[in-house]
Amino acid sequence: MRRILGIFCAVSAIGVVGCTSNGGETDGLGEATCDVTAPVEGRDVRIVTTVAPITSLVAQVVGDAGPVIVGLVPEGTNSHTFEPPPSAAAVMEGADVVFMNGLVLEEPTKDLARSNAGADAVLCELGTAILPEGEWIYDFSFPKEGGKPNPHLWTNPPMARAYAEIVRDVMSDLDPSNASVYERNFGFLAEQIDALDTAMASATATIPADARLLLTYHDAYAYFAVHYDWTVVGAIQPSSFDEPTPKDVSDLIEQIRERRVPAIFGSEVFPSPVLEQIGAETGSRYIDVLRDDDLPGESGDADHSWQGLMRFNFITMVEALGGDATTLRELKMSSPVVDRAEYSR
Ligand SMILES: [Zn+2]
Repeated sequence: MRRILGIFCAVSAIGVVGCTSNGGETDGLGEATCDVTAPVEGRDVRIVTTVAPITSLVAQVVGDAGPVIVGLVPEGTNSHTFEPPPSAAAVMEGADVVFMNGLVLEEPTKDLARSNAGADAVLCELGTAILPEGEWIYDFSFPKEGGKPNPHLWTNPPMARAYAEIVRDVMSDLDPSNASVYERNFGFLAEQIDALDTAMASATATIPADARLLLTYHDAYAYFAVHYDWTVVGAIQPSSFDEPTPKDVSDLIEQIRERRVPAIFGSEVFPSPVLEQIGAETGSRYIDVLRDDDLPGESGDADHSWQGLMRFNFITMVEALGGDATTLRELKMSSPVVDRAEYSR
């Protein structure tokens, strides 16, 4: 519990002190900060984003204030190995702000932004801005020696809220005449994030304490697990994104048996025959529907959103581990804010 509070406090402190556009702190990797030097005048702000959950958070803060949002990483692709297409250079040239996750997730996209975006363009790495490097998590799929921390901060609702807060601040500085719109939209979004967080905490309480165990193929729940006090037993996908070795698989089988892990989770973006084999050998239920960065439904649907994605994944995990997800199922997904982002397909 202490650790959870520690992270949250760090987020709040950095969110206020270091992450606003007036903060002036660098991200430790040089160059990319969320600092705005001057507002955009005489036309709408042009925004580029990367993965769909981040695009959705940005879109919900922006609403129909005017700015155009282009999400670069197609839904349902591996964002960890994504290389932007040549056509993305032109998109970057026109960008006033590029909202990325950071924590070394989108280096090729960041390089493209550095070499193509204008001198005044804001390169804002949201995750890097809210979480001090000392709090970055390294694990099996994201080992320290590989230099890439686990980047999935956005599966932790308070961290997603901190992302949205920075988006609000950056947009208000770039486009001061719409600052009150961004503030109001952020308020709607923050309310939904908080409701999801509360519902997930209640749903967690219905899972037997010794069954709050997570074994996923793709390692996207490290910060989520810290926040809700779940245990990540392991992740199956190696840092190379290849299939695990027979030794990795037999180690996992042993752990699943030892800890009596009720269910193991695969995902649509990373289908793996190995999971099925592990399920069959251990008797653990194999659930293969986690969506990673792929928002449910189609652009324009109420659940085609960050919160729709989280709710789907959270319900899937809670129910498979023997919990009751009613609080999550009853959440209202509709928002008064229209999502105008262009999502890549
Ligand atoms: Zn991922």
